[in-house]
Parts: sequence; C-alpha cells; structure tokens
Amino acid sequence: MIFLKTEDEIELLRQSNLLVGRTLAEVAKLIKPGVTTAELDRVAEEFIRDNGAVPTFKGFPNPNGAPFPCTLCTSVNAQVVHGIPGKTLLQEGDIVSIDCGVLMNGFCGDSAYTFCVGEVSSEIKQLLKVTKDALYLGIQNAVHGKRLGDIGYAVQQSCESVGYGVVREFVGHGIGKEMHEDPQVPNYGRRGTGSLLKSGMCLAIEPMITMGTRQIYLEDDGWSVRTRDGKCAAHFEHTVAVRRGKADILSSFEFIEEVLGDKAI
Ligand code: MG
Ligand code: MG
Repeated sequence: MIFLKTEDEIELLRQSNLLVGRTLAEVAKLIKPGVTTAELDRVAEEFIRDNGAVPTFKGFPNPNGAPFPCTLCTSVNAQVVHGIPGKTLLQEGDIVSIDCGVLMNGFCGDSAYTFCVGEVSSEIKQLLKVTKDALYLGIQNAVHGKRLGDIGYAVQQSCESVGYGVVREFVGHGIGKEMHEDPQVPNYGRRGTGSLLKSGMCLAIEPMITMGTRQIYLEDDGWSVRTRDGKCAAHFEHTVAVRRGKADILSSFEFIEEVLGDKAI
C-alpha cells in the first residue's frame, strides 16, 4: 500500500532528511586516511541523538541473523551497501559509501553519499560522478504522471551506457513513518511501465552502481554486500517527494559539499 503524504507530513520528512544531510557533513569532516569507520559511526550517532532524533539503522532486523549493530552503513571500495562500521582504517585512495537513516518527529530520513579518502584514481572518480548524475537523472523522472519504470530506466541507461553494472537485488523504496514503505524503486526498468507516480508519494532513490559486473554476494557478517569481481561500487541516495512538474528533493548534499569544497565530485 502506497501512502500519499500531506504537505505537513512532507515538511516533517524534509526536517528528518535535512538532519541526515547535516549528519553526513559531520562525518565528511573526519574522512581521511587513518580514521576508522567505527569512529565515523560514533560521531554520527552522537550528532543524531543530540538533535533529538534516533538512528533508524541501529537494531534494524535481519531475517538471516543479528540486527544491524550501528548507526551508519559504511561500505568501503568493493562493498556496495550495508557495510558494518568497525576497526578498519580508511586508506589513501579508498572510497567509502556512507548511508544514514534517522527517525525524528515520527518521520524518517534516508540518504547516502560516496566519499573519496584522500586522492582517488580518475577511474574511480568517474564512477562516483556517473552514479551521482544517475541519481539526479532518476529524480528528474520522479514527477506526477510518470511511472516507476521511468526512474529505473533513466538510472540504468545512464550507467550501463558507460559500461557500469546496476545492482538489481537492492532497490530504493517509499519512505514515511517507516523507513521502507511501498513501492520498491528499482534502479532498472522500462519507460512507461510500473506504478503511476502521484504527487505526495515520497521515495528514496538510491542507485548502487558497480565498475565491473553487477554480480554481488553477501559477506559472512550477514549484512555487507560486496561485488563478486572485487571492483569498486558507489551509492548515492536522496529522499524526494513526487510533485507536479518537478520532484522536491527533501534530503540535501549541500552540507556535505560545503565541507568537501572543491574536492566534491
Ligand atoms: Mg539509505
Ligand atoms: Mg534507502
């Protein structure tokens, strides 16, 4: 069942999503060679709680094992999504995808950004740029009267046309009082197919794009998803409200990109 949101509900979703953007900016300040992903997680959790919200990922149930133990998902290099923060030191040339979710005033925020650690190769920068651009191409289609397949098609076409893989097993989603609501929002699809988009639908659009093939596997920790060929993957996510004419982006990368300055992709 797809819940259409009222204007008041959309504003609450915006506040939650702006907090996610500000949290990711706090994390961005710390990303450099030698920092652990556990330290990033600690700072994010403190910032979220100081702002009167709770991290939604922490304790998130896993049908195949233990609940998610942390506030952030931190996925390094060949990890695609759902990496668990820990003692791993980030190293010069790594990339780290950081996904963050909060619950505040009864509504969820969900957004993700892939960061460079120090200087990364131009090949990898290109992966990040194409993935981020694909997110915005998807968002351009999150408009009243279009269909879900239009979003997926835009993402898929832009990434596959340059030889990248589009992960199929994990998808975007509706969002509201629950982090994951209907509908599912795949990053692949055919134009003019799938559910009709209506003003007031709120969606998390989140391309997960691989440099090599799209094949993935689940690591032994029961959460981390990694590319089979060991090549890097990127993940960018915004929460948006479908509107007439143009989508309303409720999350924001502005805070992050202020921190990154001219290093932003
Ligand atoms: Mg997310
Ligand atoms: Mg999401």
